[in-house]
Amino acid sequence: MRTDRFIAAMLLVFAAASPALAQPALTLGSIPWPEAKQRLTPDAIVVIPLGAESKEHGPHLLLDNDRRLADWFTARVRESANVIIAPTIPYHFYPAFVDYSGSTTLRFDVARDVVIDIVRALARHGPRRFYVLNTGVSTMRPLAAAADILAEEGILMRFTDILTVGREAEASVRQQKEGTHADEMETSMMLYMDSSSVNMSRAVREYAPITGGTETSSRLSPVEVPGTRFSPSGVYGDATLATREKGRVVAEASVAGMLREIAALRASPVPAALRAIANAATGLTEPPPADSLKVVMLGTGTPNADPDRSGPAVALVRGGRSYLVDAGPGVVRRAALAARSVGSALQPPQLKLVFLTHLHSDHTSGLADLMLSPWVLERTAPLTIIGPPGTRRMVKHLMAAYADDRRVRIDGLEPANETGWKVIVKEVRAGVVYRDSQITVRAMRVPHGGWETALAYRFEANDRSVVVSGDTGPSEALANFCGGCKVLVHEVYSAEKFRTRPPEWQRYHSAFHTSAPQLGALAERAQVPLLVLYHQLYWGATDADLVREVIGAGYRGRVVSARDAAIY
Ligand SMILES: [Zn+2]
Ligand SMILES: [Zn+2]
Repeated sequence: MRTDRFIAAMLLVFAAASPALAQPALTLGSIPWPEAKQRLTPDAIVVIPLGAESKEHGPHLLLDNDRRLADWFTARVRESANVIIAPTIPYHFYPAFVDYSGSTTLRFDVARDVVIDIVRALARHGPRRFYVLNTGVSTMRPLAAAADILAEEGILMRFTDILTVGREAEASVRQQKEGTHADEMETSMMLYMDSSSVNMSRAVREYAPITGGTETSSRLSPVEVPGTRFSPSGVYGDATLATREKGRVVAEASVAGMLREIAALRASPVPAALRAIANAATGLTEPPPADSLKVVMLGTGTPNADPDRSGPAVALVRGGRSYLVDAGPGVVRRAALAARSVGSALQPPQLKLVFLTHLHSDHTSGLADLMLSPWVLERTAPLTIIGPPGTRRMVKHLMAAYADDRRVRIDGLEPANETGWKVIVKEVRAGVVYRDSQITVRAMRVPHGGWETALAYRFEANDRSVVVSGDTGPSEALANFCGGCKVLVHEVYSAEKFRTRPPEWQRYHSAFHTSAPQLGALAERAQVPLLVLYHQLYWGATDADLVREVIGAGYRGRVVSARDAAIY
């Protein structure tokens, strides 16, 4: 009696201290949008269950085993936490099981981006804290990648580590010597949650030895493939040891762990430095209006062979025409990729004009590609190449190097046209270097270490002016050159990680390139509303770190750290 009154009093205190608790948990799909509008507030926590609906789990469990796990956990979380439950994601990254019929997986990038898109869409209306109720192991890597990108936008996303959330409880009941899949633990949990979906008469023990002795992937395979675990049944572990009681212990401990994680998430601040860029997408942004001058990031890389970043190349696009800046490796293929969203201006026959900032190989080793590939792909117009002194010599040598290629294509059986291989070269130093009916292009010299002439370009259309820095050390003149421009695309390196570089490299970087704080100060003086970072030298820093360094130096405009194929 006394105890009851004590609990009732505690509940009252608790409810008074946490008015949010007055609102029960709800499932998003079960309400109309005006109610969602009321509930999707900045302090709401959104839970996104993630469980494969078709993935092998041995002969004794169903393909939708993970979906059942996710549904059960979700129902329990819904009872005890004031959260908003989003629809379950039934497909994700499960590359380890594709050799078994009925198993599905998404590619890494797709799995990552599915989560990013769902979170972004919901965050747009308020929530900043998301919890992916995750039931997979291989899903954690793309989830971590998604969390990193969302963090840059001021969104805190966490997810369940299914291997650790109930680990202590698992250690207390586990008998199998090893195993992680359709094993003693997973089968026990399913016996507890939904025994009708388990056929224990078909449960097996399969310790799935590694074919060839050394594990090179976490893949299971029903046939012997070197470096993978050989499991004819699809089980890794001993499913025959499963009991409902073991499942109860582990499942209940896991629910408790998830509720603790959700409580911790609720108490965690959204990092203040990132809040400044809330909603600033660093990846696929919506393109500006169709008729305005667009900035398309073809390649944001450096000499580093980063597979996600092509060599430096930017395209300005307007009215069906393209104006390329630099020809880093991969330029023609990245243009073809961007053509999917921008249209024919970036298809090979339309790549007819390029401005080179300087002749460093990372900016020009795609030049032969730009001279020749579009011709082979039916460009009939010559390529106009505008660049610093030395451009003509480089082009002449490239022409000589490919003389045989030209001869075989033109004189041989290939129905190649006889004009698209030609080039028009114009060497420039400063001032107006190009003009047509919709755009004027100016160049200015920037300091880039030992280069006699390195150029930045300013593209002026009647609606929008854009400056592309190329490679440059910090330049006051560039801030002036950008005066009144709407977008500054600028190279950058992390000042924080610069300190970890050897002294000889520090000497080089500070003579040739611009640190994020130097750039932040410069962009603030230029009063440019949008700063796009490219040619990023990270040395272990993240995009968010670079953005933080820029903002920390006093820049008050919008700053984004570009990825390939982004459009601004
Ligand atoms: Zn460079
Ligand atoms: Zn350079």
